[in-house]
Amino acid sequence: MPEEDLSTEPLLSVRQLKKWFPIRKGFFSKTVGHVKAVDDVTFQIRKGETLGLVGESGCGKTTTGRAILRLIEPTGGEVLFRGENILAYRKEELRQLRKHLQIIFQDPYSSLNPRLTVGQMLSEVLMVHNIAHGDEAQKRVGELLDIVGLQKDHTNRYPHEFSGGQRQRLGIARALAVNPQFIVCDEPVSALDVSIQSQIINLLQDLQDEFGITYLFIAHDLSVVEHISNRVAVMYLGKIVEIASAEDLYENPKHPYTKALLSAVPIPDPNQKSNRIVLTGDVPSPVNVPSGCYFHPRCPEAKPECKTTVPKLARIMENPAHEVSCILYPTSEPDFKAVKEETT
Ligand code: SF4
Repeated sequence: MPEEDLSTEPLLSVRQLKKWFPIRKGFFSKTVGHVKAVDDVTFQIRKGETLGLVGESGCGKTTTGRAILRLIEPTGGEVLFRGENILAYRKEELRQLRKHLQIIFQDPYSSLNPRLTVGQMLSEVLMVHNIAHGDEAQKRVGELLDIVGLQKDHTNRYPHEFSGGQRQRLGIARALAVNPQFIVCDEPVSALDVSIQSQIINLLQDLQDEFGITYLFIAHDLSVVEHISNRVAVMYLGKIVEIASAEDLYENPKHPYTKALLSAVPIPDPNQKSNRIVLTGDVPSPVNVPSGCYFHPRCPEAKPECKTTVPKLARIMENPAHEVSCILYPTSEPDFKAVKEETT
């Protein structure tokens, strides 16, 4: 994992990103509410860095990754890539942008065309983006397979002839074909055996070291992102509730939700006692979110004021590089930290 360089300008800045899905009812499909899948999400990623994005299923992390790439259109906010707001890009600018921003999917098989051989699939990407044609494209296909740990004679095989780990290597090769600067890795190892998971994570780290690629690495399991991430952001019900360096987050978690997620990570030593925090209740519906702090119905540390106070993500006093959204922590931005919910 590369050393974190705080002086580097962000490659990607996500500001107050929103993706709300309308709920329509009745004969005239009147909008009666919204599912706030991503609500006011802000973070930055520096060049060559990996930001882990973690949370339970349905918390909005995959929607965040896809909204950044405009695979789904965000409802609001800004996504600055190298300083330019790509949400304002039109069709041709977006097409050019695809060379720089790529995605690796959780299920590589469903994202690979079963009717194309590996060689045809990768050549198509190279030709569509005008990167290489003919013999040059064939040569580049061989190089890409080599880079991701596959053999050149795999060129004539179809996706169904590969194992799960090999298919994920193909997904990585396809993303790499356009020489991207930024890749959203959307749960790239969740569907793989544990032994294969570490191989794919090691491959992604090696590629980052070699090509300086920046990653947003999405996972539902904190143990998966620990070794690849420089920083980790934790999401709950469409919002980021904590963000810090990986080391600080794992050693000194602040938000009660992060503490609960960390307590669920299996301990390899059978003699060490696990202090698992079991959260009561289900994740609330994003259609009907709780008042005040969204986490209060499940929070083991909740106070009465948590039902009415909406905490804001803010830097904590003891470490300005560590941000948390919880009223329990004094922050360096006292006026901005929490707002009393207006009741009508
Ligand atoms: Fe728990 Fe209150 Fe902090 Fe929310 S604001 S995480 S309910 S203590």
